[in-house]
Amino acid sequence: MATTMAAEQAGTVAVSDEVVSTCTKCKQALAHTIVSKVKQRIAKVKCHTCGTIHRYIDPTLPVKPKTPRKPAAQIAQEATYEKLIAMTANQKGQPYSLSGVFKEHDVIEHSTFGRGIVTHLIPGNKIQVAFAQGEKLLVYRR
Ligand SMILES: [Zn+2]
Repeated sequence: MATTMAAEQAGTVAVSDEVVSTCTKCKQALAHTIVSKVKQRIAKVKCHTCGTIHRYIDPTLPVKPKTPRKPAAQIAQEATYEKLIAMTANQKGQPYSLSGVFKEHDVIEHSTFGRGIVTHLIPGNKIQVAFAQGEKLLVYRR
């Protein structure tokens, strides 16, 4: 069993010990402090780098596809876009126009940027829209 090794390893460490875990926020294997254990397994850890407390992730397990050349912000952006696209897959996008009225999570079809999802309404009749190539600020209700 693939889990045996991790379990045995976890059995030798105690709460407040240091352990290397994959950080859910930093997206890499980093030093963490064990916050809690369930039976002999590490349950939760706190990241030394970002301070986030999350479940222990064995760093020897394969991580999601690595794209080291892209900045983390861009990866997060693309993940959000893909998630939003998946969430709204069945929705028909409404064509974007300056006079359009949009609300959060509306799907729009932009003549230049393609399919996008409204992520935020910004004061001053602006909408932030996630497109495949990045977030754009668009005006509406003009
Ligand atoms: Zn972290």
